[in-house]
Amino acid sequence: QKPIHIIGGGLAGSEAAWQAAQAGVPVILHEMRGVRGTDAHKTDGLAELVCSNSFRSDDAENNAVGLIHAEMRLANSLIMACADANQVPAGGALAVDRDGFSDAVTAKLEAHPLITIVREEITGLPPEEWDQAIIATGPLTAPFLAQAIAERTGADALAFFDAIAPIVHFDSINMDICWFQSRYDKVGPGGTGKDYINCPMDKAQYEAFVAALIDGQKTEFKQWEGTPYFDGCLPIEVMAERGPETLRHGPMKPMGLTNAHNPTVKAYAVVQLRQDNALGTLYNMVGFQTKLKHGEQVRVFKTIPGLENAEFARLGGLHRNTYINSPTLLDASLQLKERQGLRFAGQITGCEGYVESAAIGLLAGRFAAAERMGQAVSVPPVTTAFGALLNHITGGHIVSDDEPGKRSFQPMNINFGLFPPLPAGMKLKPDGFEGRFRGKDKSVAKKKATTARAIADCREWLGLENKAAAE
Ligand code: FAD
Repeated sequence: QKPIHIIGGGLAGSEAAWQAAQAGVPVILHEMRGVRGTDAHKTDGLAELVCSNSFRSDDAENNAVGLIHAEMRLANSLIMACADANQVPAGGALAVDRDGFSDAVTAKLEAHPLITIVREEITGLPPEEWDQAIIATGPLTAPFLAQAIAERTGADALAFFDAIAPIVHFDSINMDICWFQSRYDKVGPGGTGKDYINCPMDKAQYEAFVAALIDGQKTEFKQWEGTPYFDGCLPIEVMAERGPETLRHGPMKPMGLTNAHNPTVKAYAVVQLRQDNALGTLYNMVGFQTKLKHGEQVRVFKTIPGLENAEFARLGGLHRNTYINSPTLLDASLQLKERQGLRFAGQITGCEGYVESAAIGLLAGRFAAAERMGQAVSVPPVTTAFGALLNHITGGHIVSDDEPGKRSFQPMNINFGLFPPLPAGMKLKPDGFEGRFRGKDKSVAKKKATTARAIADCREWLGLENKAAAE
């Protein structure tokens, strides 16, 4: 049988190789580390964790990432097996001994009779004779290959940076100072004209704020210096350096906004926050992507009126992240629409995180193996975590009319917002309790019903239900 070629032996490529080989298909795994390194990896081990050693929550009933762990275990994931075998204590999270984990993955793949590991950099798209191939080269895809992908998919389709703005807990925002209003009371799709939280600044506050941004300590970014920022993605302090008025004419412009607490006094500048999750508990600071050090962000952003006591769910950051515009480029089985048999997997498809990357690798490996064996490719239902994440990558995506020109497809972790709603009128009775739920109880009950549905549907997709019945 002809092999499947997998480029990149990270989280996604390792899992893809395992799944294809376990299905009985030979695999050649091409990994460049050993010959050429990346800016973040430190070893030559397969599936190296480049930063945190956590796979996040392992709670499969109440947490979407815990759910995807459970689905991966059902699908005999190598990454999950090696994580479980190398666990270190971390409360409800699944954290691992990073070296033990990577060593275990490497040993399993090296020992597999159907897997050949070749240490080499692939510098262009897979040659046509590799009729089944998976590109799983991650956020730090080596430049020659990245360029070849950009040429094939259109340069606009490949992003190189992820700029993250801070996210604030709603209940820590002082609404006696801030107010809800969309600019010019504009009502967008599903909006109310009151979609943003606005924080007003007078002239003195604005000038002090701009000075603090310019003086604040920045994180080192030297390995990627000289690479241009994307339009619409400039760090806030870089904009501040361009002149004292730049922010007031950019993300902090006060036009079209009237302070509900003080309608006669026009704010000199306004910081806006936009709802970040469906529950309305989190708000992100619009246009505030930054490379200020984390401690500096807390200090400087707390000087914004209304955010004196802000608690941050996530601080801002800027890191290199190569990913393609998957919703337009890939079909539902992760295959490049323009070239049958060439798939993408992992973070380069626009998912985010170790676990999500491995999960997409798992699917790509299974899809490619099915095709090689002449079987129908079966895509997991969208009610499963696998299917919800896959649908985010390959399915529809929202175009923002608020911010024209902004790329609408952004990398994302698995989260409950990606799952279809529960059927209307469905009785919520997880844990055996039944009835009408309100507030927090309702959100807990909904999560449990969503995860129970996902596990049942995942078992069916994997054929496990049928197997149990046959036995
Ligand atoms: P990778 O694990 O990076 O694997 C890609 C592999 O392809 C690498 O081994 C690389 O050497 C190889 N490769 C690249 N180009 C070529 C080529 N041309 N030829 C051959 N081989 C090639 N996620 C988290 O969940 N937690 C974190 O703490 C976290 N921290 C991160 C920190 C940084 C700096 C970055 C960049 C990302 C971080 N991520 C984190 C995001 C992401 O989950 C990880 O990068 C994850 O490893 C992605 O998995 P992957 O398989 O897609 O890519």
